[in-house]
Amino acid sequence: MSDEKKNKGVHDGFSRRSVLGLGSAALAAAALAGLSAQGQTREGTQKAERDHSSSNPGQENKPLLEQNPNSNTPPPTDSGDVGPIWYSYDLTKKRIQEGGWTHQVTQRELPSSTDLAGVNMRLTAGSFREMHWHTADEWSIMLYGNARVTVLNPDGTIFIDDVSKGDLWYFPAGFPHSIQGLGPDGCEFLLVFDQGMFSEDGTFLISEWMAHTPPDVLSKNFGLPASALANLPTGSLYIFPADLPKSLAEDKAAVGGQNVQSPIQYTFKMEAMAPTKRTTGGEIRIVDSHNFPVSKNVATAMNIIKPGGLRELHWHPNASEWQFYIAGKGRMTVFMPVGSARTMDFNANDVGFVPANAGHYVENTDDTDLVFLELFKASEVVDFSLNQWIRRVPPEMVYSHLKLDKNALQTIPAEKLDILPR
Ligand code: MN
Ligand code: MN
Repeated sequence: MSDEKKNKGVHDGFSRRSVLGLGSAALAAAALAGLSAQGQTREGTQKAERDHSSSNPGQENKPLLEQNPNSNTPPPTDSGDVGPIWYSYDLTKKRIQEGGWTHQVTQRELPSSTDLAGVNMRLTAGSFREMHWHTADEWSIMLYGNARVTVLNPDGTIFIDDVSKGDLWYFPAGFPHSIQGLGPDGCEFLLVFDQGMFSEDGTFLISEWMAHTPPDVLSKNFGLPASALANLPTGSLYIFPADLPKSLAEDKAAVGGQNVQSPIQYTFKMEAMAPTKRTTGGEIRIVDSHNFPVSKNVATAMNIIKPGGLRELHWHPNASEWQFYIAGKGRMTVFMPVGSARTMDFNANDVGFVPANAGHYVENTDDTDLVFLELFKASEVVDFSLNQWIRRVPPEMVYSHLKLDKNALQTIPAEKLDILPR
């Protein structure tokens, strides 16, 4: 299996070149005629991959290599160092408490990601992520099950809603909120914070505030005798089990109904929304402050790429990209100056990273749909398409640079498709 995949990777490299119309003889000629010494080095690298030079008689972590053949034996186009672009939730420590668990990939685990950090959390039915707030904005997508969320506005209005798989929520920094797993089996979700060094362990918990305020002050604040406060928590709750709540309508009515209802919408049904763009190769849904106004500092594009499909070569001028892989298997190459490129494979539960402005593509390398999120610390998703760029400049200009003649150029999509047709 491992060797097959490795070989497949190498062959893919060659078949891509034959698609471009370069046989090996032509390629050698081109290397001599046009390409620099680096081009000839690439030939040498290709040869090295094919022969004894790439053999590895020593120890190997085979399961890891099988997950990431492009990292182990990079395509000959890879070069230099673009910094870390991969991590996986399945390498992180899980904090397990009664009622669920949590683990995180932050700048500590993936040092390139200074803008965003992610937390993956599970709550069983009825269990709470306790009432809290924090210094970063919180964006979230439901990955499984059902949950009830609440968030308070400074004007005293309250937002209460139920969310299920494919729904988003967004809580601004400092706004106090809660999450509770619902039936039949609670929930799992991804949280993304707009600070790379954010930690899920560094949030303001209602339980800890109670535990660290003099009891007589609490009595005075609540207007309650000490006896009424005898059972306050003395440490942090964080995640803990509880009974299932009443219905959404009953909970809303119990706190004051319409009179106290938030005029701001903090949840969004992303998976249920029509794709922003769709081709035979897949579909993309873009959710940012244009269609989800409260999501001011985090923008997202959810990609579903069919087998063999490609998220086209592109870059983002306004932010770095933090990726979360939900399903399937893909590979990405990140291109950076000077002449640097890194290719890696991505599986479900992996995190990917692309520096701002760095060129990249994401290719589905398996026979099932590849589902992944592009996330940006930005108010909107902005990208440049390589295809569109070379169709918007005069064909002679493209020929001068890339030796693509007019006829070939005409077949390249002139519009930004995001996910190319197969
Ligand atoms: Mn939170
Ligand atoms: Mn991108």
